[in-house]
Amino acid sequence: MKTVVQKFGGSSVADYECMNRVLEQVSQRLREGYKVVAVLSAMSGETDRLLSLARSFSDSPDPAETDVLLATGEQTSVALFTMMLLDQGIKARSLLGFQIPVHTDRSYGRARILDIDDENLRSQLEDNDVLVVAGFQGCDFQQSLTTLGRGGSDTSAVALAAALDASFCEISTDVDGIYTTDPGICSQARKLQRITYDEMLEMASMGAKVLQIRSVEFAKKYGVTLHVRSTFSDEPGTLLVQEEEAMESVMVSGIAYDKDQARITLGGVYDEPGIAARVFEPLASSGIVVDMIVQNPSREGRTDLTFTVSRSNLDRTLELIQGLKEKIGAREVLHDPGVAKISVIGVGMRSHSGVAAIAFKALQAEGINILIISTSEIKISCLVEGKYAELAVRVLHEAFGLDQTQTEPVRDT
Ligand code: ASP
Ligand code: MG
Repeated sequence: MKTVVQKFGGSSVADYECMNRVLEQVSQRLREGYKVVAVLSAMSGETDRLLSLARSFSDSPDPAETDVLLATGEQTSVALFTMMLLDQGIKARSLLGFQIPVHTDRSYGRARILDIDDENLRSQLEDNDVLVVAGFQGCDFQQSLTTLGRGGSDTSAVALAAALDASFCEISTDVDGIYTTDPGICSQARKLQRITYDEMLEMASMGAKVLQIRSVEFAKKYGVTLHVRSTFSDEPGTLLVQEEEAMESVMVSGIAYDKDQARITLGGVYDEPGIAARVFEPLASSGIVVDMIVQNPSREGRTDLTFTVSRSNLDRTLELIQGLKEKIGAREVLHDPGVAKISVIGVGMRSHSGVAAIAFKALQAEGINILIISTSEIKISCLVEGKYAELAVRVLHEAFGLDQTQTEPVRDT
Protein backbone atom coordinates (compact mmCIF):
# COMPACT_ATOMS: atom_id res chain seq x y z
CA MET A 1 0.00 0.00 0.00
CA LYS A 2 1.56 3.30 -1.18
CA THR A 3 0.80 5.87 1.50
CA VAL A 4 1.46 9.57 1.80
CA VAL A 5 0.85 11.80 4.80
CA GLN A 6 -0.32 15.32 3.90
CA LYS A 7 -0.51 17.89 6.68
CA PHE A 8 -2.50 21.10 6.24
CA GLY A 9 -2.02 24.02 8.63
CA GLY A 10 -4.64 26.36 10.07
CA SER A 11 -4.55 28.87 7.21
CA SER A 12 -5.04 26.01 4.71
CA VAL A 13 -8.29 24.93 6.39
CA ALA A 14 -9.45 28.44 7.33
CA ASP A 15 -12.75 28.27 5.42
CA TYR A 16 -14.69 26.41 2.74
CA GLU A 17 -12.65 27.91 -0.15
CA CYS A 18 -9.34 26.95 1.45
CA MET A 19 -10.58 23.43 2.19
CA ASN A 20 -11.60 23.12 -1.46
CA ARG A 21 -7.97 23.72 -2.34
CA VAL A 22 -6.95 21.05 0.19
CA LEU A 23 -9.44 18.73 -1.49
CA GLU A 24 -7.63 19.28 -4.80
CA GLN A 25 -4.25 18.54 -3.23
CA VAL A 26 -5.54 15.32 -1.68
CA SER A 27 -7.30 14.26 -4.90
CA GLN A 28 -4.06 14.75 -6.83
CA ARG A 29 -2.29 12.22 -4.60
CA LEU A 30 -5.22 9.80 -4.92
CA ARG A 31 -4.94 10.02 -8.71
CA GLU A 32 -1.25 9.17 -8.37
CA GLY A 33 -2.28 5.95 -6.64
CA TYR A 34 -1.54 6.82 -3.02
CA LYS A 35 -3.68 6.20 0.01
CA VAL A 36 -3.76 9.49 1.91
CA VAL A 37 -3.54 10.28 5.59
CA ALA A 38 -4.55 13.96 5.79
CA VAL A 39 -3.54 15.55 9.10
CA LEU A 40 -5.33 18.81 9.80
CA SER A 41 -4.78 21.71 12.17
CA ALA A 42 -7.62 23.70 13.67
CA MET A 43 -9.09 26.42 11.43
CA SER A 44 -6.83 29.48 11.67
CA GLY A 45 -7.25 31.50 14.85
CA GLU A 46 -9.31 28.76 16.51
CA THR A 47 -6.68 27.52 19.00
CA ASP A 48 -6.05 31.11 20.13
CA ARG A 49 -9.80 31.69 20.45
CA LEU A 50 -10.20 28.57 22.61
CA LEU A 51 -7.25 29.56 24.80
CA SER A 52 -8.72 32.97 25.51
CA LEU A 53 -12.13 31.42 26.10
CA ALA A 54 -10.53 29.21 28.76
CA ARG A 55 -8.93 32.25 30.39
CA SER A 56 -12.26 34.05 30.49
CA PHE A 57 -13.75 31.17 32.49
CA SER A 58 -10.88 30.50 34.86
CA ASP A 59 -7.91 32.48 36.20
CA SER A 60 -5.72 29.41 35.91
CA PRO A 61 -7.39 26.96 33.53
CA ASP A 62 -6.82 23.34 34.51
CA PRO A 63 -4.19 21.91 32.12
CA ALA A 64 -6.00 18.61 31.50
CA GLU A 65 -9.30 20.35 30.73
CA THR A 66 -7.51 22.92 28.57
CA ASP A 67 -6.37 20.03 26.39
CA VAL A 68 -9.93 18.68 26.20
CA LEU A 69 -11.01 22.13 25.05
CA LEU A 70 -8.17 22.68 22.56
CA ALA A 71 -8.73 19.28 20.98
CA THR A 72 -12.12 20.51 19.74
CA GLY A 73 -10.38 22.84 17.28
CA GLU A 74 -9.00 19.95 15.27
CA GLN A 75 -12.17 17.91 15.79
CA THR A 76 -14.12 20.60 13.94
CA SER A 77 -11.78 20.83 10.96
CA VAL A 78 -11.49 17.06 10.41
CA ALA A 79 -15.28 16.57 10.53
CA LEU A 80 -15.91 19.37 8.02
CA PHE A 81 -13.22 18.21 5.64
CA THR A 82 -14.36 14.59 5.77
CA MET A 83 -17.88 15.71 4.83
CA MET A 84 -16.43 17.39 1.76
CA LEU A 85 -14.56 14.22 0.77
CA LEU A 86 -17.67 12.08 1.23
CA ASP A 87 -19.68 14.50 -0.94
CA GLN A 88 -17.16 13.79 -3.72
CA GLY A 89 -17.75 10.07 -3.34
CA ILE A 90 -14.28 9.54 -1.83
CA LYS A 91 -14.09 6.79 0.80
CA ALA A 92 -12.96 8.60 3.91
CA ARG A 93 -13.40 8.88 7.65
CA SER A 94 -12.13 11.18 10.37
CA LEU A 95 -10.02 9.99 13.28
CA LEU A 96 -9.35 11.84 16.52
CA GLY A 97 -6.10 11.22 18.36
CA PHE A 98 -7.63 8.93 20.98
CA GLN A 99 -9.43 6.85 18.36
CA ILE A 100 -6.18 5.74 16.72
CA PRO A 101 -4.81 5.94 19.48
CA VAL A 102 -1.80 8.25 19.46
CA HIS A 103 -0.41 7.57 22.92
CA THR A 104 1.51 10.32 24.68
CA ASP A 105 2.95 11.03 28.10
CA ARG A 106 0.87 13.05 30.56
CA SER A 107 2.46 16.49 30.06
CA TYR A 108 -0.67 18.39 29.20
CA GLY A 109 -0.13 21.18 26.72
CA ARG A 110 3.24 19.83 25.56
CA ALA A 111 2.84 16.07 25.52
CA ARG A 112 5.30 13.82 23.73
CA ILE A 113 4.19 10.99 21.47
CA LEU A 114 5.18 7.58 22.85
CA ASP A 115 3.43 5.16 20.56
CA ILE A 116 0.98 5.00 17.63
CA ASP A 117 -1.22 1.98 16.91
CA ASP A 118 -0.22 1.48 13.29
CA GLU A 119 -2.13 -1.84 13.02
CA ASN A 120 -5.38 -0.02 13.54
CA LEU A 121 -4.40 2.70 11.07
CA ARG A 122 -3.41 0.18 8.43
CA SER A 123 -6.70 -1.69 8.69
CA GLN A 124 -8.63 1.59 8.51
CA LEU A 125 -6.63 2.43 5.39
CA GLU A 126 -7.65 -0.87 3.81
CA ASP A 127 -11.28 0.25 4.01
CA ASN A 128 -10.76 3.91 3.11
CA ASP A 129 -8.86 5.98 0.58
CA VAL A 130 -8.37 8.91 2.91
CA LEU A 131 -8.08 9.02 6.69
CA VAL A 132 -8.54 12.54 8.00
CA VAL A 133 -6.64 12.73 11.28
CA ALA A 134 -6.89 15.45 13.89
CA GLY A 135 -3.36 16.79 14.40
CA PHE A 136 -1.92 18.14 17.65
CA GLN A 137 -3.73 15.66 19.91
CA GLY A 138 -3.36 12.28 21.52
CA CYS A 139 -4.23 10.61 24.79
CA ASP A 140 -2.27 9.23 27.71
CA PHE A 141 -2.52 5.61 28.87
CA GLN A 142 -5.38 6.57 31.23
CA GLN A 143 -7.42 7.86 28.27
CA SER A 144 -7.04 11.52 29.15
CA LEU A 145 -6.79 13.78 26.10
CA THR A 146 -3.46 15.55 25.58
CA THR A 147 -2.10 18.13 23.13
CA LEU A 148 1.41 18.39 21.73
CA GLY A 149 2.20 22.10 22.06
CA ARG A 150 1.64 24.92 19.60
CA GLY A 151 2.28 23.86 16.03
CA GLY A 152 2.02 20.25 17.16
CA SER A 153 0.16 19.04 14.06
CA ASP A 154 3.50 18.99 12.24
CA THR A 155 4.78 16.49 14.76
CA SER A 156 1.56 14.44 14.50
CA ALA A 157 2.05 14.23 10.74
CA VAL A 158 5.70 13.17 10.93
CA ALA A 159 4.95 10.60 13.63
CA LEU A 160 2.13 9.10 11.54
CA ALA A 161 4.40 9.00 8.48
CA ALA A 162 7.04 7.17 10.54
CA ALA A 163 4.50 4.73 12.00
CA LEU A 164 3.04 3.90 8.58
CA ASP A 165 6.37 3.92 6.78
CA ALA A 166 4.81 6.40 4.35
CA SER A 167 6.57 7.25 1.10
CA PHE A 168 6.90 10.85 2.30
CA CYS A 169 5.28 13.50 4.44
CA GLU A 170 4.05 16.71 2.89
CA ILE A 171 3.68 19.76 5.11
CA SER A 172 1.39 22.11 3.23
CA THR A 173 1.19 25.59 4.65
CA ASP A 174 0.94 29.27 3.69
CA VAL A 175 4.64 29.66 2.84
CA ASP A 176 6.15 27.92 -0.14
CA GLY A 177 9.25 26.44 1.48
CA ILE A 178 12.33 27.11 3.58
CA TYR A 179 14.40 30.13 2.59
CA THR A 180 18.13 30.88 2.77
CA THR A 181 17.20 33.59 5.26
CA ASP A 182 14.17 35.60 6.34
CA PRO A 183 12.75 37.18 3.14
CA GLY A 184 11.23 39.83 5.41
CA ILE A 185 14.64 41.39 6.02
CA CYS A 186 16.57 40.24 2.98
CA SER A 187 14.82 40.64 -0.35
CA GLN A 188 17.46 38.44 -1.98
CA ALA A 189 16.50 35.35 0.06
CA ARG A 190 15.99 32.25 -2.08
CA LYS A 191 13.85 29.18 -1.59
CA LEU A 192 16.03 26.14 -0.89
CA GLN A 193 15.40 22.98 -2.88
CA ARG A 194 16.86 20.84 -0.12
CA ILE A 195 18.08 21.25 3.40
CA THR A 196 19.34 18.64 5.87
CA TYR A 197 17.56 17.98 9.16
CA ASP A 198 20.60 19.23 11.05
CA GLU A 199 20.72 22.51 9.16
CA MET A 200 17.00 22.97 9.74
CA LEU A 201 17.46 22.36 13.46
CA GLU A 202 20.19 25.02 13.53
CA MET A 203 17.88 27.41 11.71
CA ALA A 204 15.39 26.81 14.50
CA SER A 205 14.85 30.44 15.38
CA MET A 206 13.63 31.12 11.84
CA GLY A 207 12.36 27.69 10.91
CA ALA A 208 10.10 27.50 13.92
CA LYS A 209 7.70 29.82 12.13
CA VAL A 210 7.29 27.16 9.44
CA LEU A 211 7.63 23.85 11.31
CA GLN A 212 7.41 22.74 14.92
CA ILE A 213 11.05 21.97 15.71
CA ARG A 214 10.13 18.75 17.45
CA SER A 215 8.78 17.46 14.13
CA VAL A 216 12.21 17.95 12.55
CA GLU A 217 13.86 15.98 15.37
CA PHE A 218 11.30 13.25 14.82
CA ALA A 219 11.85 13.23 11.05
CA LYS A 220 15.60 12.98 11.57
CA LYS A 221 15.28 10.13 14.05
CA TYR A 222 13.03 8.07 11.79
CA GLY A 223 14.40 9.21 8.43
CA VAL A 224 11.09 10.65 7.21
CA THR A 225 11.47 12.74 4.06
CA LEU A 226 9.59 15.98 4.60
CA HIS A 227 8.34 18.21 1.83
CA VAL A 228 7.45 21.73 2.97
CA ARG A 229 5.27 23.40 0.33
CA SER A 230 2.41 25.79 -0.21
CA THR A 231 -1.18 24.55 -0.21
CA PHE A 232 -2.01 27.29 -2.67
CA SER A 233 0.51 26.52 -5.41
CA ASP A 234 1.68 23.49 -7.34
CA GLU A 235 5.33 24.57 -7.26
CA PRO A 236 7.71 22.23 -5.47
CA GLY A 237 8.73 23.47 -2.02
CA THR A 238 11.75 22.44 0.07
CA LEU A 239 12.76 18.87 0.85
CA LEU A 240 14.15 18.07 4.30
CA VAL A 241 16.46 15.12 3.96
CA GLN A 242 19.34 13.16 5.41
CA GLU A 243 22.74 14.55 4.52
CA GLU A 244 24.01 13.48 1.10
CA GLU A 245 27.53 13.83 -0.19
CA ALA A 246 26.60 16.33 -2.89
CA MET A 247 25.29 18.73 -0.25
CA GLU A 248 28.75 19.17 1.15
CA SER A 249 29.91 20.93 -2.00
CA VAL A 250 27.84 23.93 -0.96
CA MET A 251 29.59 25.75 1.87
CA VAL A 252 26.64 27.51 3.44
CA SER A 253 22.90 26.86 3.19
CA GLY A 254 21.44 29.69 5.17
CA ILE A 255 21.80 32.65 7.51
CA ALA A 256 19.71 32.68 10.69
CA TYR A 257 19.35 35.45 13.23
CA ASP A 258 18.04 35.99 16.72
CA LYS A 259 17.42 39.59 17.71
CA ASP A 260 16.19 38.65 21.14
CA GLN A 261 19.53 38.25 22.91
CA ALA A 262 21.07 39.98 25.93
CA ARG A 263 24.73 39.83 26.98
CA ILE A 264 26.02 39.67 30.54
CA THR A 265 29.66 39.98 31.60
CA LEU A 266 30.97 39.13 35.05
CA GLY A 267 34.24 41.05 35.30
CA GLY A 268 37.18 39.79 37.38
CA VAL A 269 35.70 36.59 38.83
CA TYR A 270 38.08 34.17 40.62
CA ASP A 271 39.70 31.77 38.19
CA GLU A 272 39.28 28.57 40.17
CA PRO A 273 37.35 25.30 39.88
CA GLY A 274 33.61 25.56 40.55
CA ILE A 275 33.03 29.19 39.67
CA ALA A 276 31.25 28.50 36.38
CA ALA A 277 29.11 25.86 38.06
CA ARG A 278 28.14 28.37 40.75
CA VAL A 279 27.11 30.89 38.12
CA PHE A 280 25.16 28.60 35.82
CA GLU A 281 23.50 26.23 38.29
CA PRO A 282 21.04 28.77 39.70
CA LEU A 283 20.21 29.92 36.17
CA ALA A 284 19.51 26.34 35.14
CA SER A 285 17.27 25.66 38.11
CA SER A 286 15.30 28.79 37.26
CA GLY A 287 14.75 27.42 33.75
CA ILE A 288 16.88 30.12 32.10
CA VAL A 289 18.50 28.90 28.89
CA VAL A 290 22.05 30.20 28.42
CA ASP A 291 23.21 30.38 24.84
CA MET A 292 26.76 31.58 24.12
CA ILE A 293 29.40 31.35 26.87
CA VAL A 294 32.93 32.77 26.71
CA GLN A 295 35.60 32.80 29.38
CA ASN A 296 38.76 34.84 28.86
CA PRO A 297 42.29 33.69 29.81
CA SER A 298 43.03 34.70 33.38
CA ARG A 299 45.26 37.45 34.66
CA GLU A 300 46.43 37.33 38.28
CA GLY A 301 43.93 34.65 39.20
CA ARG A 302 40.95 36.54 37.81
CA THR A 303 39.00 36.22 34.60
CA ASP A 304 35.95 37.62 32.78
CA LEU A 305 32.95 35.42 32.08
CA THR A 306 30.52 36.50 29.37
CA PHE A 307 27.29 34.81 28.30
CA THR A 308 23.99 35.48 26.57
CA VAL A 309 20.38 34.77 27.50
CA SER A 310 17.14 35.70 25.78
CA ARG A 311 16.12 39.28 26.52
CA SER A 312 12.99 38.24 28.37
CA ASN A 313 15.21 36.46 30.92
CA LEU A 314 17.61 39.36 31.45
CA ASP A 315 16.05 40.85 34.59
CA ARG A 316 15.74 37.51 36.33
CA THR A 317 19.32 36.59 35.36
CA LEU A 318 20.70 39.85 36.72
CA GLU A 319 18.84 39.32 39.99
CA LEU A 320 20.36 35.86 40.39
CA ILE A 321 23.84 37.10 39.47
CA GLN A 322 23.73 40.04 41.90
CA GLY A 323 23.11 37.53 44.67
CA LEU A 324 26.29 35.68 43.72
CA LYS A 325 28.57 38.61 43.05
CA GLU A 326 30.49 38.54 46.33
CA LYS A 327 30.91 34.77 46.46
CA ILE A 328 32.49 34.51 43.03
CA GLY A 329 34.60 37.64 43.44
CA ALA A 330 33.04 39.51 40.53
CA ARG A 331 34.31 43.08 40.46
CA GLU A 332 31.54 44.20 38.13
CA VAL A 333 28.46 42.92 36.35
CA LEU A 334 27.90 44.50 32.94
CA HIS A 335 24.94 43.90 30.70
CA ASP A 336 23.79 44.83 27.27
CA PRO A 337 20.12 44.23 26.42
CA GLY A 338 20.35 44.97 22.71
CA VAL A 339 22.47 42.37 20.96
CA ALA A 340 21.71 39.98 18.10
CA LYS A 341 23.11 36.62 17.14
CA ILE A 342 23.70 35.98 13.45
CA SER A 343 24.46 32.40 12.41
CA VAL A 344 25.96 31.07 9.21
CA ILE A 345 24.77 27.48 8.73
CA GLY A 346 25.83 24.68 6.40
CA VAL A 347 26.86 21.03 6.51
CA GLY A 348 29.47 21.95 3.89
CA MET A 349 31.49 23.61 6.66
CA ARG A 350 32.59 20.22 7.87
CA SER A 351 34.75 19.77 4.82
CA HIS A 352 35.72 23.35 4.01
CA SER A 353 38.18 25.70 5.55
CA GLY A 354 37.94 29.45 5.40
CA VAL A 355 34.23 29.80 6.07
CA ALA A 356 34.83 31.82 9.23
CA ALA A 357 37.31 34.08 7.46
CA ILE A 358 34.76 34.91 4.72
CA ALA A 359 32.16 35.75 7.37
CA PHE A 360 34.48 37.96 9.43
CA LYS A 361 35.73 39.82 6.36
CA ALA A 362 32.18 40.52 5.21
CA LEU A 363 31.25 41.97 8.61
CA GLN A 364 34.44 44.00 8.77
CA ALA A 365 33.73 45.56 5.36
CA GLU A 366 30.59 47.10 6.88
CA GLY A 367 32.35 48.15 10.07
CA ILE A 368 30.33 45.69 12.15
CA ASN A 369 32.12 44.73 15.35
CA ILE A 370 31.85 41.12 16.53
CA LEU A 371 31.20 40.84 20.27
CA ILE A 372 31.28 37.05 20.68
CA ILE A 373 32.01 34.22 18.28
CA SER A 374 30.90 30.64 18.81
CA THR A 375 31.03 27.67 16.49
CA SER A 376 29.69 24.17 16.09
CA GLU A 377 30.42 21.65 13.36
CA ILE A 378 27.91 23.18 10.96
CA LYS A 379 27.43 26.70 12.36
CA ILE A 380 29.36 29.90 13.02
CA SER A 381 27.54 32.41 15.19
CA CYS A 382 28.54 36.02 15.75
CA LEU A 383 27.02 38.27 18.35
CA VAL A 384 26.71 41.86 17.10
CA GLU A 385 25.09 45.07 18.29
CA GLY A 386 21.34 44.83 17.78
CA LYS A 387 21.21 47.77 15.37
CA TYR A 388 23.42 45.85 12.92
CA ALA A 389 21.37 42.66 12.88
CA GLU A 390 19.63 43.11 9.55
CA LEU A 391 22.67 44.54 7.79
CA ALA A 392 24.78 41.64 9.06
CA VAL A 393 22.28 39.11 7.71
CA ARG A 394 22.30 40.78 4.29
CA VAL A 395 26.08 41.05 3.94
CA LEU A 396 26.63 37.45 5.03
CA HIS A 397 23.90 36.28 2.69
CA GLU A 398 25.70 37.98 -0.17
CA ALA A 399 29.19 36.93 0.92
CA PHE A 400 28.25 33.25 0.72
CA GLY A 401 26.62 33.61 -2.67
CA LEU A 402 23.12 32.97 -1.41
CA ASP A 403 21.61 35.99 -3.15
CA GLN A 404 18.90 35.38 -5.69
CA THR A 405 20.78 37.19 -8.41
CA GLN A 406 23.63 34.70 -8.13
CA THR A 407 22.78 31.50 -9.94
CA GLU A 408 24.89 29.19 -7.80
CA PRO A 409 25.83 29.32 -4.13
CA VAL A 410 29.58 29.36 -3.31
CA ARG A 411 30.92 25.90 -4.09
CA ASP A 412 34.14 24.11 -3.57
CA THR A 413 36.53 24.49 -6.51
N1 ASP B 1 -3.88 24.11 16.30
C1 ASP B 1 -2.65 24.02 17.00
C2 ASP B 1 -1.95 25.35 17.06
O1 ASP B 1 -2.44 26.34 16.58
C3 ASP B 1 -1.73 22.99 16.41
C4 ASP B 1 -1.28 23.26 15.00
O2 ASP B 1 -1.84 24.07 14.30
O3 ASP B 1 -0.31 22.64 14.59
O4 ASP B 1 -0.90 25.45 17.62
MG1 MG C 1 1.89 25.50 12.06
